[in-house]
Amino acid sequence: PGVGKGTQAKILSKMLNVRHLSTGEILRDEIKKNTKIGKIAKSFIDYGNLVPDDLILNIISEEISAQISNKGYLLDGFPRTIPQATGFDNLLNKINHNLNAAINLTANEDELIKRILERGKFSGRSDESVNIVRKRQKIYWAQTAPLIKYYKGKNILKNIDGIGKVEEITKNILEIIC
Ligand code: AMP
Repeated sequence: PGVGKGTQAKILSKMLNVRHLSTGEILRDEIKKNTKIGKIAKSFIDYGNLVPDDLILNIISEEISAQISNKGYLLDGFPRTIPQATGFDNLLNKINHNLNAAINLTANEDELIKRILERGKFSGRSDESVNIVRKRQKIYWAQTAPLIKYYKGKNILKNIDGIGKVEEITKNILEIIC
């Protein structure tokens, strides 16, 4: 959380002309529209918790089977847990798609907390207060960080330093994935 994955994903998807799929944005949109999914998502997001895997996997499988372009897509904030990653692998197998790279944007945790709290002053997001941000970091280490090993084992992990100028980070990612 706070490493700038959304910023990079937006820039890269535009540059590469591929679809940008952010589970966080999809969920925030559902919350705004007050849908059934939105109501469930809100009860997790507001407390800094992850939304249940089955709900997330349903969203992803609908989005990806509906998308027809064969240019590819860029996933932002997904997968967030090992069950999401294995569920996603099953989906990819079924539709004969290949995951080319998993980008791990790295940064010092104190720096990230500082950044999110700064962003929270303007973003209006319900999950950007000090306590919730610390909880999200804790959950990241417990549930999301194991994906680093998972994708390293698949030989597609790309570590990128997430601290620095936005353009430079974009350039570093492009060098690695293109
Ligand atoms: P993000 O915009 O990616 O930082 O996501 C904001 C919040 O949405 C997270 O803290 C989670 O509560 C929820 N969320 C987004 N993506 C996922 C996911 N793949 N799995 C579970 N929860 C998610």
